[in-house]
Amino acid sequence: MASSIPRTTLPELVAGKLAAAILEKQHLPGAYFPSERDLIKDLGVSRASLREGLHILAEAGLIEAHQGVGWLVNELSGPQAAKARKLAVKISPVVGEASAKRKKPKASGPRRLPVAKEKPLHIPNLKTDRLGTFEFISWWEREKVRNARVMVVGAGALGNEVVKNLALMGIGSMYIVDFDRIEAANLSRSILFREQDGGREKSQIAAARAKQINPDVNVQYLHGDVTTDIGLGVFRRMDVIIGCLDNREARLALNRFCHWMGKPWVDGAIQELLGLARVFVPGEGACYECTLTEQARRELSLRYSCPLLARQNILLGKVPTTPTIASIIGALQAQEALKLLHGLPVEAGKVMHFNGMTNSMHTSAYVPREDCESHWTYGEVVELPARSEHTALADLLRIARADLGKQAVIELDQELVLALECPQCGTKEEVLRPLSEVTLEAGHCPACGTLRQVQMTHLITGEEAFLHRTLASLGIPPLHILRAHNGREYRFYELTGDLPDALHFRHFEGPARVGSPAGRLRIRLGEEVRTSSAKGRVVLVD
Ligand SMILES: [Zn+2]
Ligand SMILES: [Zn+2]
Repeated sequence: MASSIPRTTLPELVAGKLAAAILEKQHLPGAYFPSERDLIKDLGVSRASLREGLHILAEAGLIEAHQGVGWLVNELSGPQAAKARKLAVKISPVVGEASAKRKKPKASGPRRLPVAKEKPLHIPNLKTDRLGTFEFISWWEREKVRNARVMVVGAGALGNEVVKNLALMGIGSMYIVDFDRIEAANLSRSILFREQDGGREKSQIAAARAKQINPDVNVQYLHGDVTTDIGLGVFRRMDVIIGCLDNREARLALNRFCHWMGKPWVDGAIQELLGLARVFVPGEGACYECTLTEQARRELSLRYSCPLLARQNILLGKVPTTPTIASIIGALQAQEALKLLHGLPVEAGKVMHFNGMTNSMHTSAYVPREDCESHWTYGEVVELPARSEHTALADLLRIARADLGKQAVIELDQELVLALECPQCGTKEEVLRPLSEVTLEAGHCPACGTLRQVQMTHLITGEEAFLHRTLASLGIPPLHILRAHNGREYRFYELTGDLPDALHFRHFEGPARVGSPAGRLRIRLGEEVRTSSAKGRVVLVD
C-alpha cells in the first residue's frame, strides 16, 4: 500500500492544489490570487514552498507575477488547461480528473481554499532517516523545521539544553551567541561542554557540538554581547529568538531588538529548582519590558548619574542552578520555539512557572503597559550596500539627509562616550567609544583616582568633529540597521553589505559551496569576495 503512494514534493503539492482550485473556478481568470500570507495560512506551508509552487504554476502559464500587486490568474487556453489538470492530478487523481470533466457551477464569490489538514502520507525509512520519527507527528512539517533560522542567545546551562534540543529536532540553521568562556563550574550543567574545553568560547563550542549531534544543521556562532555586538539585520532574518540569559539588561535589549524587528522570542529563567518560560510576540499582549516593576525599570536606566557603575553591576549576581531545572525549562523553550515555527498557538505575554520542589506548574498573564518604551516596530528597511567597517558616519548622514532633509539626525542605539572629565583635576580625556566598552576602571582618573564624569550622546546631528570615523569604530556592529529622523518621520538603513560575512550559518563546514545563496549575494553586492574559511573552520579536539 505504502509503496504505491506517489512521492510528490511540497512545492508540487502546492502547485497541484492551486491548479485544482483554478480548475474548480475558485480563482477566476483575470483575478489575483489571495496574498502570499493568506495562501501560506490556507495551505499550511512555508513561504519558500509557496513561492516554489507559484513558480511551477507560472512556468505552466497558469498565472503571472505582477510586481508589487500579486499573482494574476490567466485565461485557461486548451494547452494550459491540460497543464493545470496534469498538476492537479499529482495531488489526487480524483480531484484533478473529475473536476476537469465535470462542469462546476461558478463560485458566487471569493472562497477560501480548503485547508490541507492532513500531511501527504510519507512512510519514512527509520534505518536511514534520522528525523523520520517526526513524520509520525501529525502537525510536524519537516520543511518548516529544516528552513527555520533560530537564534539562541546565551550558551550557559539553559542555552546548552536549548541548542541540544534544536539540533536533535533538525532545526535547519542556528545562530548561537555568548560572550563568556567555559570554566569548570559550567561542566555540571552543560551537556555540550567537556573538561578540555576550559577557557574556550561557549558560543563556539556549543555550535561545534550541535554540528556533531546533527551534521545536517547549519550553525554560526558569535562570541559577543547581545546588547551591542549583533546587527539588527541578523534579528531581521531570524524566525524565532530564544533567550537563555541571566540578567535583566540583556533581556531588555533582546526584547527591544525583537520588538523592533517584529520577531517572537522565548525567554527562560532558572534558579535552584524554580524556573519560568514565556513567549513574547510583538503586538500580542505584554512584552518583557511590560513585566518589569518601576523599581526594576529605574535600576535598568543606563542614563542615570553613574552609567559606568550601573553597567558593571549587571555583570554580578550569578544564581545557583541545577542541570535538571535547566533541562526542564530549556525543553519548554525549545518546544515553544518549535510551536512558533509551525504557527501553532502559543500563549504570548503569559508566563509558565514551574516549581520543582512541589512539582506545581501554573500560568499567569502579564498586563501590557500602554506607555511601554519597547512597543516600537521599525518601518520599511532600506538595504544599503554599505559595511560598518568601511562606511563613515558622514556617509550615512548624507544618505539620511537626501531622504529626510537637512535637519535629519542619526539616533544611535547605544550611548557614545565622548569624553571623561575629572571633577578634581579638571582634566578631560577624549574617548569616542560606545559606553559598553568603557570599563569602570577606565572611568577613574589616572592622576587622582576620582571616578570621572561621563560625557555621552546618542544623537548625531552633523556638528560632530568625528563624522569621518567609520561606523565600526564607533561600536556599530556589522549588518546593523541605523535609524534617522527629521522630527517628523523615521528612516531605517541596513548595512546590507555586511550580510555575507555577518550571517552565513557555515561554521564547522567545508569551504563555501559554489552557488549557495550567500555566494550569489556576494557577487550581486559587488563587494570583494573574502573567504571566511579561517574563522569558519575551527577544529575541535575531543
Ligand atoms: Zn512592553
Ligand atoms: Zn583627577
